Amino acid sequence: MQVDAKGRIGWIGPYEPLASRCADEPLEDLRPLWILPGMVDLHVHLPQHEAVAMDGLELLPWLETFIFPAEARFADADVARRAAVRFFRGLLYRGTTTAVIYTTVHEAATDAAFREAERVGIRAVIGKVMMDRHAPTSLQEDTVASLAQSEALCQTWHGRDHGRLLYAFTPRFAPTCSAELMRGVGVLAEKYGAYVQTHLSENLQELDWVKALFPEAGSYTDVYRRMGMLGPRTLLAHGIHLDPHERTLIRESGATIVHCPRSNAFLKSGIMPLRRWLEEGLCLGLGTDVGAGPSLSMWAEAAFACTASKLRWSENQHLADRLQRMELLGEAQRAEVLRALALSAGVPVDPVHAFHLATLGGARALGLEDRIGSLATGKEADFVVVDPRSVDPAESRGGEPPERTLSRMLYREHPGMVRATYIRGRRCFAADS
Ligand SMILES: [Zn+2]
Repeated sequence: MQVDAKGRIGWIGPYEPLASRCADEPLEDLRPLWILPGMVDLHVHLPQHEAVAMDGLELLPWLETFIFPAEARFADADVARRAAVRFFRGLLYRGTTTAVIYTTVHEAATDAAFREAERVGIRAVIGKVMMDRHAPTSLQEDTVASLAQSEALCQTWHGRDHGRLLYAFTPRFAPTCSAELMRGVGVLAEKYGAYVQTHLSENLQELDWVKALFPEAGSYTDVYRRMGMLGPRTLLAHGIHLDPHERTLIRESGATIVHCPRSNAFLKSGIMPLRRWLEEGLCLGLGTDVGAGPSLSMWAEAAFACTASKLRWSENQHLADRLQRMELLGEAQRAEVLRALALSAGVPVDPVHAFHLATLGGARALGLEDRIGSLATGKEADFVVVDPRSVDPAESRGGEPPERTLSRMLYREHPGMVRATYIRGRRCFAADS
């Protein structure tokens, strides 16, 4: 691969022809390491990085018990600064070149996150969390101030460094946001061409709460539609329990559902019917959702997306089999139930598809597929150097199809597999240095 002075890919192909073509240029022979596109993490919480793996609770009590206290500590700008250093180092270390990030409700902490992202060279979409009701006193904001602070951060950072840093208006989720706040978000995001990120349809208690808070809305998704928050630059984390009408609303708006399967398992939220959502044409990407997800590794997240898809598929096979044997239902009724529950649909998602979702899929979700997400001439050089030998128990293995190596990289990734992480051709992390 040849990278030009602006950090773009000038040429990509096998080593030998490139070596003779670039005889007069500095050349680094990385063989037998692999060069792959960098990972795109579409959903991660910076302040939760150090509150991971607190098991035992579902979403709402988990937030109250572990997460809100962790986020409240970011009122101290020094705490926020130091945490940002560790967080971005962690992302680069695992080969993530683009991350879409929630901070806390604190303006200074969000500014500190942007400054650190600017310094280390990572590509990032960052947003200050907005909460103006049903939050602990220490984290609850005034509606007008929340909108004003978010707008100021957007004005300062959205588009910085030729679009490497971008802003996302970040109302946490409908239960902690007033209608006035969410409407304001829709207007501001449109005004600045910025992103909107929030959570949607993750947990059954959360769904009941939203129904009680917004009785006039047709569904959880319809709450966001009414507030003007749904559009092609909207990222909706989770989206597990969506009815057909909601899926239509999301598809037609061009919004993305961010699948976070390790988080969904950890908080006992459910298993997204990933294959079905893909077949219906929904735009999907992957996110680690740290701290409900256990690590910043998108390799492990992609592997778990396959695992979750297989678990759902195999459970559906068992249920379909049991249903076929039920004599209390007639044949037509059995067929109807099978269809309604999609019990016999599809095949599980495989590692190649999951890797695609973690790279080019994420880039598409951000509308950046012409710049990042794959290795192609003219794109910006966001890539990772990985060592396939480090995840292979066999000593040498010549000539196998690359998808088998990729499968091992996802399922067996460990610290040290990523040797270097480059963004716009700049080496932002190197394992040897
Ligand atoms: Zn989240």
